Amino acid sequence: MTAQKPPPTKKEFCIDYPLYEQFTFEMEHSQEGWNLFYARDPIDTYCPKCNAHSIFHHDISGTISHHPDSWVGKTRVGVWLKCSRDASHTLYFLFDVQGRTVQKIGQYPSLADLNTYDVRQYSAVLSREDFKEFTKAIGLAAHGVGVGSFVYLRRIFENLVDAAYQVAKTDDGWDDEAYRNGRMAERILLLDGHLPEFLVENRSMYKILSQGVHELTENECLAAFPVVKMGIELVLDEKLAAAAKQKKLQQARSAIHGLVSKA
Ligand SMILES: [Zn+2]
Repeated sequence: MTAQKPPPTKKEFCIDYPLYEQFTFEMEHSQEGWNLFYARDPIDTYCPKCNAHSIFHHDISGTISHHPDSWVGKTRVGVWLKCSRDASHTLYFLFDVQGRTVQKIGQYPSLADLNTYDVRQYSAVLSREDFKEFTKAIGLAAHGVGVGSFVYLRRIFENLVDAAYQVAKTDDGWDDEAYRNGRMAERILLLDGHLPEFLVENRSMYKILSQGVHELTENECLAAFPVVKMGIELVLDEKLAAAAKQKKLQQARSAIHGLVSKA
């Protein structure tokens, strides 16, 4: 029995969650369920029509009940988000609600269209093959394909961990045997200083990567998907930052060189 996950925010459920992944809002999370269907808080996300990030607002017509349980058992609920730059830019999500259990059963534009924009930047720091598989994994997960998408993500994650390992093993006092015998969570701990802090602190979330794919259900894979995707993005964010810093240093060096040679 795993601990109850914190309920997803409206943005997470609409934008990040794959189709058909179920979440049950327990009694104490009625308000979060209500927020998903009725809250008008602004949502900052990619607008495919603007081809940029924009602020979206939930477009609700008619009166709504403010009772936190008013959504329970509604069967079908649609969520329309309107772009604040242009009201004709809309995102639509359709939810199935059985009792307190909610799943997204449809959306337009597709999850892949909404989510690959944010990952395009990573093509600069991933191999061509890994980048192709990264976007493929997002597309598969968007259509509820759990195991298939997970296999792609796992391979990319392992490649990134292996790249960190190639650097770490030249460190003084590196324990190669512990690394080779370690499972994913232990490997991440050994790579402390070579992987983002957040990954090291939350390494237990990556235990699932040591399990054989045949041991996992479609739903377990779909549930692990955002966690593994986030881990990959954290590593890639650091690589992007390092590349930007390197570029700036290069520019500074040639600027200084220009000054010195003129003197
Ligand atoms: Zn827009």
